[in-house]
Amino acid sequence: MNEAMVKRNELLAQKVIKGLESRNMTGYYAATKEEALKKALEIIPEGSSVTMGGTMSAHEIGLVEAIKNGSYTFIDRETAKTPEEKREAMLKGYDADFFLSSANAMTDDGVIVNIDGNSNRVSMIAQGPKHVLFIVGMNKICGDIDGAMKRARNVAAPINAQRFGLSTPCSKTGACMNCKSPDTICCQFLITRFSRHKDRIHVILVNDDLGF
Ligand code: SF4
Repeated sequence: MNEAMVKRNELLAQKVIKGLESRNMTGYYAATKEEALKKALEIIPEGSSVTMGGTMSAHEIGLVEAIKNGSYTFIDRETAKTPEEKREAMLKGYDADFFLSSANAMTDDGVIVNIDGNSNRVSMIAQGPKHVLFIVGMNKICGDIDGAMKRARNVAAPINAQRFGLSTPCSKTGACMNCKSPDTICCQFLITRFSRHKDRIHVILVNDDLGF
């Protein structure tokens, strides 16, 4: 990334962090993935129970591996062998100390946008785990809610639909067709504009392209 882009992202991140503060959430800026990992491990105390939604960004900065190999209790739905075990892990996750997530998009004044099919992720962001830690690449920042929704439905959703082999119009055309397909991943839209509980929602903005 050239110097001008780094500077632009730094300045933009400061604006997002200010917006988050005004919404009772806490933002941080990390210049690199390594810095982001260090900051995340400062935020999550050892001994915490941690669970996660389908976040590529947390994987990309090495956080999931660090949690799995560190002194934490990792609640992992993905290793569940039966639907019953999966449900049990999911319900246990609602009481975790930390939920790791990425965002489908954010506005430059600190609003977080997520869409979901099964809705486990959006429900955990809204309520349940004691803390939510978002890892967000600067590629996810948009000018306003409209831009953030467009990004979520025309960039994040088609890529995720492709990734999971879903039969949705966007997986074929690359853009949202506002479908009601049985496979749609747009069952719920969550706009997080304020946190009632101080210190619950933390966002690490990473000067890199992360996730989709
Ligand atoms: S509404 Fe349907 S077509 Fe649009 S992004 Fe969601 S899954 Fe894709």
